[in-house]
Amino acid sequence: MYYALYNPTYYLFALPALLLGLYAQYKVRSSYERYMQVRNSTNLTGYEAAERLLKAARLTDIGVAETSGTLSDHYDPRSKKLYLSANVAHMPSVAAIGIVAHEVGHAVQDAEGYAPLKLRSGLVPIVQVGSWLGPIIFVLGLLISVTPLSAIGLILFTLTAVFSLVTLPVEYNASKRAVALLTSSGTITTLEEQDAVQKVLSGAALTYVAAAAQAVSTIFYYLFLLGGRRRR
Ligand SMILES: [Zn+2]
Repeated sequence: MYYALYNPTYYLFALPALLLGLYAQYKVRSSYERYMQVRNSTNLTGYEAAERLLKAARLTDIGVAETSGTLSDHYDPRSKKLYLSANVAHMPSVAAIGIVAHEVGHAVQDAEGYAPLKLRSGLVPIVQVGSWLGPIIFVLGLLISVTPLSAIGLILFTLTAVFSLVTLPVEYNASKRAVALLTSSGTITTLEEQDAVQKVLSGAALTYVAAAAQAVSTIFYYLFLLGGRRRR
């Protein structure tokens, strides 16, 4: 990536995705801050909502723990635990129950063996290496003019893009399950609350779209560099 940063051409490819990323960050922050102030009608904290929704989803073996940071809430499939940030765990807000329901959605995916989640988990070790080694091998190939080496780097990096694309159905599906679970369990009862939860979750989904767009545009940039090298 360091190589890309020195080259202004990179921004021709990546600018739309980078702008989308900034917009998504703004959306996440603003809807989170707004709906963190709005009390939910059942007056449940995130922690209480987690217990209620897990019970409604018949996931009694899933633990709930706290984690540091803001918007750091996640489900860990290895420890089978929901990790909630302090604000989400202790405040009875609309944002908190939306975020919790989304993470419960991931736990349900895990319990059901939802295929995109499995594929995503399987790609994690490859991505951990490919995301940094791919660009290095790619640039090395360009520098020493060995195209097959660059191609290997590109393939490694492409797996990172595949990972971020597979993330999209996983995230959208978790949010869909979240709204369904909140409604069927009677945790949200009004259309206004449903709309608010959807706003909180769609901001987060957009950040994943931006990340995927960024990975794909980087691939196009690499292909452009490879093409330029071949013409010389
Ligand atoms: Zn998620």
